[in-house]
Amino acid sequence: VFLHVSTSFWSCFSSSALANLWCYSGCGHTPEHWEALDESHCGGQKQSPIDIVTSVVTIDPNLGNFTFVNFSSQSAIKNITNNGHSVQCDIEVDMVEVSGGGLDGEYSVLQFHFHWDVANNSGSEHTLDGHRYPMEMHIVTAKKGILPNETLNHNDGLAVLGFFIDATEDGNISAPWETFTSYLKDIPEEGLSVKVDNITIDDLIGNVDRTKFYRYMGSLTTPYCNQAVVWTIFQEPIKVHKDLQSPDFTTEKALMYLMYSEKQYNGIAPNYRPIQPLNGRNITASPATPPPHQVVLIFITSSFFSSKLS
Ligand SMILES: [Zn+2]
Repeated sequence: VFLHVSTSFWSCFSSSALANLWCYSGCGHTPEHWEALDESHCGGQKQSPIDIVTSVVTIDPNLGNFTFVNFSSQSAIKNITNNGHSVQCDIEVDMVEVSGGGLDGEYSVLQFHFHWDVANNSGSEHTLDGHRYPMEMHIVTAKKGILPNETLNHNDGLAVLGFFIDATEDGNISAPWETFTSYLKDIPEEGLSVKVDNITIDDLIGNVDRTKFYRYMGSLTTPYCNQAVVWTIFQEPIKVHKDLQSPDFTTEKALMYLMYSEKQYNGIAPNYRPIQPLNGRNITASPATPPPHQVVLIFITSSFFSSKLS
């Protein structure tokens, strides 16, 4: 999760000076040294990302369906920016909201951004039973009714919606992604930003089943790693056609063009933080989330033996 917010309203979180103090590789403060930064929470006990081990996840009946407001608005996404650590889209202030899904109150969407790697198609921050997807998209929201300068002091001051992104043969939602990635060629260097038109957040999420998700309490995944985030990780990945993701795809519209073009986007990827210890935290899942295979097997096995015994 990045919290580089460009509007003055949220400028309390923004720090261009901080942006140069840390990195993923090639500087003094790589992830294992983030906790040494002044004011850092990166060595805390409730850090993100984590590996979601589905065999220890418990179903929480309170994790009902989300309500999404203006996710289908054509004017919600303001711009797309290369901030040096990721590609980020800022959202119109106080326009897009999310509630429900077990969240306590309403949250206002601030921005979304991506994490990825150039190697092995594995650059998501969270992992699912150890599996690392090619990319992860984070939709960052702030709790309404809390003053901006207080948000990071609440353990649920922020809610982040995390979506895995996979590359598939049948990427039937590739058209919006192709439009989206067509902007990437205009932001080859840190600090560049362009206006975005004709794409909605719903377009990018596509047909992911938003009733199936995991929940835990954690942190920002970039300095200062404040432990102020209610995490939602959706079980189903966003499926993007593999040609939009392939490093061999040479057009400027390739989804990960920026990720693979060392000349233009050198230094951003990989931009995922290593997995952090769970330290006894609970991971829960919405009732619609499929149980892990092990539970099904145990059920079948026990049914088999009980039928033999009866
Ligand atoms: Zn992120």
